[in-house]
This record gives sequence, structure tokens and C-alpha cells, in this order.
Amino acid sequence: MNKRETAQISEKQKTDVLIVGAGPAGLAAAVRLYELGIHDILVIERENRPGGILRQCIHDGFGVTRFGESLTGPEYASRFIAKALEYGIRIISNAAVTDITADREVTVVSREGRTIWQAKAVILAMGCRERTRGAAAIPGERPCGVFTAGVAQAYINIYNRMPARETVILGSGDIGMIMARRLTLEGAHVKAVYEIQPYPSGLPRNIRQCLLDYDIPLILSHTVTQIHGSRRLEGVTVSEVDETLRPVPGTDEYIPCDTLILSVGLIPENELSLDAGVSLDPRTHGAFVDEHFQTDVPGIFAAGNVLHVHDLVDFVSKEAEAMAEAVKSYLEEGILAKGGIKIIAGEGIHHTVPQAAEGREPFTLSLRVRRPMRDVTICARQGNEILGRKKMKQALPAEMIWLPLKPLKGTEDVEVYVE
Ligand SMILES: Cc1cc2nc3c(=O)[nH]c(=O)nc-3n(C[C@H](O)[C@H](O)[C@H](O)COP(=O)(O)OP(=O)(O)OC[C@H]3O[C@@H](n4cnc5c(N)ncnc54)[C@H](O)[C@@H]3O)c2cc1C
Repeated sequence: MNKRETAQISEKQKTDVLIVGAGPAGLAAAVRLYELGIHDILVIERENRPGGILRQCIHDGFGVTRFGESLTGPEYASRFIAKALEYGIRIISNAAVTDITADREVTVVSREGRTIWQAKAVILAMGCRERTRGAAAIPGERPCGVFTAGVAQAYINIYNRMPARETVILGSGDIGMIMARRLTLEGAHVKAVYEIQPYPSGLPRNIRQCLLDYDIPLILSHTVTQIHGSRRLEGVTVSEVDETLRPVPGTDEYIPCDTLILSVGLIPENELSLDAGVSLDPRTHGAFVDEHFQTDVPGIFAAGNVLHVHDLVDFVSKEAEAMAEAVKSYLEEGILAKGGIKIIAGEGIHHTVPQAAEGREPFTLSLRVRRPMRDVTICARQGNEILGRKKMKQALPAEMIWLPLKPLKGTEDVEVYVE
């Protein structure tokens, strides 16, 4: 280590709770912790201001559940930022957490240098990132004009740049549909939204408000099979897919366009979690947690999109607040009992959060189904004991489902399934 590096590392500093990320999850956790009497909190944010991805979501529709009114993303975030400022919670922006150890030593890098923090509890609230063309493995040339929906959203809403004229959107995720509407309002022509699955992957309200209201076609069971263009995108080939999602020969259609927007999924941002030795669930790509939102590394908690991708930000805030209560208990009473009873995602269920529980008190499972279903009952059972049931007229993979459970008994696994 050279002299400069030595100078840049200050002495190890201490804090009760260090929160990684000042998005809706990190902010809600910080505010609730403060209200619960935990005041030694530090929030680290790598962007130049707090708010997370909501800074670029200028459309409305946020906060309907929580505040009973429809806010824009920045308005929703500002309610939590205002509270954090009022309480004097320390938020350091323009600083990135680059490493977390299992004993909660956190490395933070900023223009001022590198600081090591020793925290009693660490909250992972890093959000998620978008799947890119590479992750979706779309063949063809590599011209410019292929963007993820979030990047296109940032160009328009933050940098005031128009990235598209003749546009094709791949994937019917919520951000893609919201961008179909935004691009149309800004003067671009959206030819269609193509979705590989036989059903849309976003929320029904976005299909209505962003596609149907603007006459933008949604074409199911189709995908982009080739990208054409040398410098700028010139067109894409679109093909129908069969039930195994493979392109059907002879169904190719060339569509001229200058922009392809991808809305093909979000991936929780968990590199730091892995560094800390946290185990990840291959279904959610987030941490395995118990009903206290504690990972399998004691003292490290997770909430928000880094834990599992949420449909609405209102639920992110609610989850982070519930986690804050558990963090307070952890700080005051030491290690919370480890959730030992496994919760198994059975027939028709894609995943559950938590994936295991101690279950001494009632708690609520969050889950998603595998495919759209009508007139079903979601059931949780431990042996012969039914712990919770929910009848649903319609269950969609796009929507998170909440299932309150009775306390668990014994050690047998809990199975969650669709009847
Ligand atoms: C592009 C995009 C658009 C979206 N649009 C909508 C929408 O229109 N409506 C809706 O309901 N939901 C939308 N969502 C979902 C939305 O992300 C969530 O509802 C909500 O913002 C999740 O909150 P979060 O705090 O978990 O994550 P985020 O909002 O992503 O916040 C995470 C924060 O952690 C910071 N961070 C990450 N790693 C580090 C690190 N190593 N060090 C320091 N800081 C770090 C990030 O900079 C970020 O500020 C969108 C998501 C994306 C990706």
C-alpha cells in the first residue's frame, strides 16, 4: 500500500445501522428506525442524491395504497427524504459501498477516499438492475439504438434527450409499457410491444393506461430474433414462438425501426450480498431471508428490490418498515432466532419471501404465481394444518400476492401451493 492509499484510509468508524442505498427501501427503513428510537443510522448512496430509481419515474401512480393519492416517483421519494432530513439522518451521497464482510465491516469509497465502517447491523437496500440485450441473448449486429427501458427513461426524464423515433419494444414489463406511453407523448412512434410469453408480464393497469389508451399493439408469443444495422439500428426481425418459447420457422417478419427498447426483466443487485457470504435464492435472485428479513448472515438484513422485485413501490416501503422493526429487536436483544422451518414453493407458486421462518408469531408471506390463473385458492399447509388460505378471482405473475399465516408448530416444512 503506498503513502497516498494509507492517507486515504481513515480510522475505522462505528455506527449502529448502516444502510446501503437511499432508494425507497433504504429511506423507509431509516425513517422507521429513527421513529423506533434508533438514531445512530448511516445511509450510503452512490448516486448524487437520494431517491433511488424513482428520481427518473416522472409519471404518476405511486403512493395510491400508502398515501391514498397518485404521486409521481420524485414526489413519493421526497416524502421520505423530507422526513429523513427533518430527523437529521445522515445520508452520504456520491459514495459507493464496495465491500461488506460477514462481521459487518463496510468499505465506503467517495471522493474523500476510503472509509471503513463497523456496523452493528447492515441493511441491504441496493435495488435491482435491468436485464440487457446480452442477458436476453438476442442475436445480430451491434448498432446503437438498443436501450433498456430504464436507460431510455433516464435519457428523456433526466437528461432531456430524445433517444428514439421509430420504436419497437421487446417485453411487456411495466417499465417498457410506461416507456411506450412516454415515447408516444414525446413524439416517437411505437410500432408494437412484443412479448415472448403468451401473457403480458406487467400490471393490468399499465396495459390499460399505457398501451390500450394510446392504440399501441401488444403482440404476445413473439420475440426479436435478429438485430439489423451497422452504425444505427435499421430494423429487427420478429418471430412467433411455440409453447417452449422457440421461434417457429417461417414466421419471421422484418420491422424497420431506429430504436429497440428492452423491458425483459430486473435482476436484484446482489454482488455485495455475495461478498458478505449471504446465500441467494435462485428463484428470486435475492437473499434467503426469514420472517424478520434477516439473511443467513446474522445482523445483515435485506428489503426492497434487492430482496425480490416488487410490483409497486408502496409495498417496498411497507416491507422496509417491517424490517426496521426486526432490526430494532436485533440491536436490543441480540441475534434473532434463525428461521429454521423451510417454506416450499409448491404447485403453481414461483417463489415465496421469506423462504424460511421461525414462526412463533403470525407473519405474512409475499409470493408470486407461475402463470395467470382464474378462480383459485392459494394455500399454505404444515402437515395437516392449514396455516393460511386466500381465494382469488384472478392470480397473475405480474402481481405480488400477500398471504397472512398463523404461527408455525413443530419443525415440518410449510408448503405453499395453488388449489
Ligand atoms: C428503470 C426502472 C424503472 C422503474 N419504474 C417503476 C415505476 O414506474 N413504478 C413502480 O412502481 N416501480 C418502478 N420500478 C420499480 C422500482 O425500482 C421499485 O418500486 C423501487 O424503486 C425499489 O426501491 P429500492 O429502494 O429497493 O431500489 P432502488 O430504487 O433501485 O434504490 C436502490 C438504491 O441503492 C443505491 N445503490 C446500489 N448499490 C449501491 C452501492 N454499492 N453503494 C451505494 N448505493 C448503492 C442505488 O444507487 C439506488 O439509489 C422501476 C425500476 C427500474 C429499475
